[in-house]
Amino acid sequence: MARQENAAIGYTTVYRTLKLIVDSGLGEMVDFNDGVRRYERKLGREYHAHFICTKCGKNFEVFDKNIETLSARLSHEKNFLPTKHRLEIFGLCKTCN
Ligand SMILES: [Zn+2]
Repeated sequence: MARQENAAIGYTTVYRTLKLIVDSGLGEMVDFNDGVRRYERKLGREYHAHFICTKCGKNFEVFDKNIETLSARLSHEKNFLPTKHRLEIFGLCKTCN
């Protein structure tokens, strides 16, 4: 019984802390539409791509300066001021492929 109560308190505290982090702009919730809430650090990590396996749900990130270069070039060409960037590539991982 005591163990259950402790688990509930821990869960609430974790989500309250994550909300604070998101509200302060330090973190961001990422949603791959699979019903799982994920959070990641935001500062200094704008230019990366998420690869998401649509079969097993495995996901990983790839950091590449070319993403930043492309984003900057396209935004300039379209006379667009980017404030946020998100790149998600869906498909099958090595195991599911
Ligand atoms: Zn997979």
